[in-house]
Amino acid sequence: MGQMLRAALMRHPAQIARWLHGTHMLAFLPAGALAGFWIGGEVLLVVLAIGMPLAYVLAGQADHGTLDPDRPLPDLIDLATATALADQIIARAAAAKLGTACLLVEAEGLDAVRRRAGDTVAQELQDSVLQRLRSQLRRGDRVARIGDSRFVVLLSPSLRLDLDALLLMSYRMQRALEEPAETEGGTHFLSVAIGFCASSRLRGDGGGAQLLDAAATALTEALAHGPSAVRAWSESMRVQRHARKTLLEEAERALAKGQIQPWFQPQLCTSTGAISGVEVLARWLHPDRGIVSPDDFLTALEDAGHLDRLSEVMLDASLSALRQWDETGIAIPRVSVNFSDTELRNPRLVTRLKWDLDRFGLPASRLGVEVLETVIADAPEGVVARNITALSQLGCQIDLDDFGTGHASITALRRFAVHRLKIDRSFVTRVDRDEDQRRMLAAVLGLADRLGLETVAEGVESVAEHTLLAQLGCDHVQGFGIARPMPADQLADWARGYAERVAKAQNIGRSAGTG
Ligand code: C2E
Ligand code: CA
Ligand code: CA
Repeated sequence: MGQMLRAALMRHPAQIARWLHGTHMLAFLPAGALAGFWIGGEVLLVVLAIGMPLAYVLAGQADHGTLDPDRPLPDLIDLATATALADQIIARAAAAKLGTACLLVEAEGLDAVRRRAGDTVAQELQDSVLQRLRSQLRRGDRVARIGDSRFVVLLSPSLRLDLDALLLMSYRMQRALEEPAETEGGTHFLSVAIGFCASSRLRGDGGGAQLLDAAATALTEALAHGPSAVRAWSESMRVQRHARKTLLEEAERALAKGQIQPWFQPQLCTSTGAISGVEVLARWLHPDRGIVSPDDFLTALEDAGHLDRLSEVMLDASLSALRQWDETGIAIPRVSVNFSDTELRNPRLVTRLKWDLDRFGLPASRLGVEVLETVIADAPEGVVARNITALSQLGCQIDLDDFGTGHASITALRRFAVHRLKIDRSFVTRVDRDEDQRRMLAAVLGLADRLGLETVAEGVESVAEHTLLAQLGCDHVQGFGIARPMPADQLADWARGYAERVAKAQNIGRSAGTG
């Protein structure tokens, strides 16, 4: 009997473990219990820890119980368990000449609920999402949570898992999850993004890791196009992801090597014609690709968590340029930098900025900060609000960027002590030729006037637009029609040339007046 048991244990440890686990009889033994079996002349000792199922010990694999196809998954699993489970299902599907698929579901807004209403309410919501997902699936399908707001679904082997079927299933899940959810903390509305991949689409080893990775790539793509987007994995996504990764690595190196630099675009005062400031815009001077615009690398730097480093570099170089212009007698009253919400979330931002201004011996009034309207609209009480208010109190000018494209309330304009509205280019383009556009712009300018805020129009591309903006009472203008962004030394030359042109025009005006 002893020998038979030993032979069986050697040959089929997992099956025996499962059988023992299934019986529940030996599954839980007291802490530290030392069990000894007499097996064919040798003593086999099994040490058991508190509550650890005997089956796991015998099988030598703590997660194995979770992978039993006949047992439900725990609510929360880690990536390794999900991968092992996917491996198992793929193998079963292949043996039966069937397919499977992995869907990753992100409940957007769950993090915000946790911040707002606390852990208990968030946990209630997580449970409700899981329950609703289960209600949408068939018996053999497996579902669990694998992150704070992320859920994994692995479908049991099936014949028909084509794109249409998986899309329909995703939309059905979305509908179920986006129904309002009641918790102790009130009613919650989540939006749900889904990325999926069918095993039949995979090349290479086609294992569990690859399937999960493909679904994760599709989910990233969905989240980038959200809210509530659904994306199927495709080979082109892999190519794009590779390109993004390369760009990211290159951008990190470029930042370290000083290849990302500030360029400056002048702003003019419409009543005096003088330069009223410059906006600082990041440019990557790529050795092969030439000048790369921020739209192509900002997201990469943000994803890698390097935006703070970028703003340090930009600020340092901008203040240094401002000092240089001062020393050579070029009158630039102010440089304005763009701060994203990530940078505005840095609790050390104001201290760092003060320190930088002191280092260059410049007052805060020489620095402008451009904040997107969407950031102000979305910023509740918190570090972003405190930073903006502190910057304003320090004496920095706060410009509300892309005004008209967000939904900042008038209260928010007051609360954040905004100085200027920076009217988005979409309101400025063709303003000299389009009556509706003109009416819209006049309304925005009227609002700013009544709120006692200055205005700057961006994207001014022609003399006609410039003239009309001045006539309508816009205080400042900026755009390609005046000058394109340029490096610091070129801006010095441009400013000298511009001052000469203005002086000449004034002289002509004066002599015409006296003649
Ligand atoms: P933005 O703040 O709205 O900047 C204005 C953008 O419009 C700039 O594009 C500028 O080159 C462009 N522009 C200026 N005048 C004209 C015009 O007359 N016509 C047209 N068609 N475009 C004009 P750029 O430099 O590519 O910057 C894109 C965005 O990247 C900026 O939009 C800003 O949000 C962001 N950005 C740029 N530099 C930085 C930076 O250092 N830090 C952060 N956080 N964001 C930055
Ligand atoms: Ca800007
Ligand atoms: Ca803008």
